[in-house]
Amino acid sequence: MSGSINNLNYPYGYVPGRDEERLAPYAASERTSKGRHYAESPPRYRGEYQRDRDRIVHSAAFRRLEYKTQVFVNHEGDMFRTRLTHSIEVAQIARAMARVLGLNEDLSEAIALAHDLGHTPFGHAGQYALNDCMKRYDGFEHNLQSLRVVDVLEERYAEFSGLNLTFESREGILKHCSKKRAAELGDVGQRFLQQRQPSLEAQLANKADEIAYNNHDIDDGLRSGFITIEQLSEISIFAQHYDIVRENYPRLSERRTIHEVVRRMINAQITDLIETSIASLKEKNPKNLNEVHESPGELIVFSRDMAAQLVTLKQFLRHNLYQHYRVRRMSVKASKIISALFGAFLNDNRLMPPETMSKARCLEAEQGETGIARAVSDYIAGMTDRYAIKEYERIFNPSHLT
Ligand code: MG
Repeated sequence: MSGSINNLNYPYGYVPGRDEERLAPYAASERTSKGRHYAESPPRYRGEYQRDRDRIVHSAAFRRLEYKTQVFVNHEGDMFRTRLTHSIEVAQIARAMARVLGLNEDLSEAIALAHDLGHTPFGHAGQYALNDCMKRYDGFEHNLQSLRVVDVLEERYAEFSGLNLTFESREGILKHCSKKRAAELGDVGQRFLQQRQPSLEAQLANKADEIAYNNHDIDDGLRSGFITIEQLSEISIFAQHYDIVRENYPRLSERRTIHEVVRRMINAQITDLIETSIASLKEKNPKNLNEVHESPGELIVFSRDMAAQLVTLKQFLRHNLYQHYRVRRMSVKASKIISALFGAFLNDNRLMPPETMSKARCLEAEQGETGIARAVSDYIAGMTDRYAIKEYERIFNPSHLT
């Protein structure tokens, strides 16, 4: 038993270990955890997954999410989602569902908060550009980078690099992975080689991500004026809630109507996911986490009808929001900034700050030119949007002589 709160004879509150008895038998549990890479003494007043969550919240990469694009560049307006607020919404949805399903809330929350830590500046445009630059050097993939952030790049602890998270958090963060990369990753890559399912907490965080971005992108898309209510009225998952809200509250302002519709949409998707997942868990009846891993498919699932509606919504958003000409203009600029910075730093590493350059030297000693490219890619991936823009100006704008 890890919490020394047990020795204080205090009858209330959460007791790590003891309170795990409330979890479903297929939930991830500290008792069966595969632990941390570097052995550490157990936390006194927290569970192991709480400790993971707390380490993520205190990391530099987490703070930088505030200034990283979700869809809209941060400086385009204070009202839009950033990667930070997106991650907080994902964690809220994951935690709420985990509690209902008897899953490990702390683990779900840790995975949700960490899932986007590896994102480049400028959203997906940044990731595509950096992957392009890294083609000759093993590529760049934001999900793998999230794992790299928590395993290697954070420098906060005396005894190890990275955050030394539990195996279960690390495995949950690694959502997808090629077999080639999986083979290089050791323990966390195994499930991709053996085609095993992730924990239910990881499945939940993944679905919470989907619920969060589908709905907040409607909200942000409407606010920006890039998409309209008329267009969305063609999409059944929006139209059905919109019609009800309009009927019940005909005099409500447009902004409040949108909030009310989005709120109802989120609620409908969460309800559908909870009810369908409970039915699937009852049917497949996994006895423990291992049976979850061995299940032929995912067990946290939407109903067929909801899944189909979400596919239509995603297609709509891709077509009308993510490929909107104003978003594309930003994407083109982002690609130019990322490629120019990568080229400049790879060509002359002495343009990078000294600590980044010394990391490049270390990686070069291990992997040659690929190591330098990886250090450059780590440096760029860690940048916020505004830092990348400033770096670009500092390097390429002749009137910027500092
Ligand atoms: Mg996300």
